[in-house]
Amino acid sequence: MYYVEKVIEVAMAHRLTLDYGSPCTGLHGHNALVTVCCRSRELDANGMVVDFAEVKRIVKESLDHRCANDVVPFNPTAENLARWLCGRIPKCYKVSIRESEHNVATYEVDE
Ligand SMILES: [Zn+2]
Repeated sequence: MYYVEKVIEVAMAHRLTLDYGSPCTGLHGHNALVTVCCRSRELDANGMVVDFAEVKRIVKESLDHRCANDVVPFNPTAENLARWLCGRIPKCYKVSIRESEHNVATYEVDE
């Protein structure tokens, strides 16, 4: 199995819908680090799992300088965004979103 990992920084905003009081229900922003992990048993004709530039393009177009609430139809927690991004990237099996130095959410395909 071949593995590649790409880290992309995005400036994103969101506001969360929560069933408890939290400052996160207000619009706020993160300079988030998105770590995308892809894998494949076979390499493509170029000898790659997936082109790093393609991964970066998808993540940037999905979230960078955008309000996540305008992009997705669900509550845009880091966990939900990680799962959503994972489904948009070829051969991706895991995405982590580091919203701040101490807060990281990860989605990994369950197989
Ligand atoms: Zn937040």
